[in-house]
Amino acid sequence: TQELLLHSEKLSVAGQLAAGIAHEVRNPLTAIKGFLQLMQSELKTHSNYFNIIESEMDRIEIILSELLVLAKPQDLKFEIKELAVMIEHVKALIDTHAIMKNIVISTNYDCDNLKIKCDENQLKQVFINLLKNSIEAMPDGGNITIELKEHGQDKVKMLFKDTGFGIPKELLKKIGQPFFTTKENGTGLGFMISKQIIENHHGTIHIWSDSKGTIIEIILPLN
Ligand code: ADP
Ligand code: MG
Repeated sequence: TQELLLHSEKLSVAGQLAAGIAHEVRNPLTAIKGFLQLMQSELKTHSNYFNIIESEMDRIEIILSELLVLAKPQDLKFEIKELAVMIEHVKALIDTHAIMKNIVISTNYDCDNLKIKCDENQLKQVFINLLKNSIEAMPDGGNITIELKEHGQDKVKMLFKDTGFGIPKELLKKIGQPFFTTKENGTGLGFMISKQIIENHHGTIHIWSDSKGTIIEIILPLN
């Protein structure tokens, strides 16, 4: 628990605040959604206004669920996990979706048995965020490669490479700013949250990108 406390202090105040607000807003939102549905059925209307309100509320829900990933520090559970196993779990989760989009995800583990101390769900969320971004950057299909290798004595380097359309140089420094998105339905929260989670694990995250694709590098301390 000492270890856990130490880690939890690393959660930024802003992150905790955001997750707290998201949590508080979700309950009234659920209530409003319920009453809206009741209203719609009682009025027996199919007004387009209802559809608009509903889709806007869905959008609020997506933003809240992204923010809730930052969770309450007391909910975090740091355990020793094998990175390659976690990657395989996430890959299995995303693979069907990727295949439908003509995207092949391959992995390349330089050595196995690379173990880190982490909150499994949070770290998996990072991998999901990165893979989603890669998939969204390849509307005509392509390749994603996930590489794992030892980095120095006591660190591990992970690379997420895609063959997508990349990020224009002038936008690169904006990635990870809250709500920065180039997508019509993006939230602009995925990268910021991923960065925060990696930093909570004493790691670093960097982006390289050109018109041929994007590489995200994550360095984490080994257990
Ligand atoms: P969102 O995905 O909701 O837009 P993110 O924080 O995940 O928010 O990403 C922010 C922006 O970074 C995206 O809108 C996109 O412009 C850019 N981006 C992130 N990853 C990639 C990638 N692999 N390829 C191209 N652009 C990317
Ligand atoms: Mg995203």
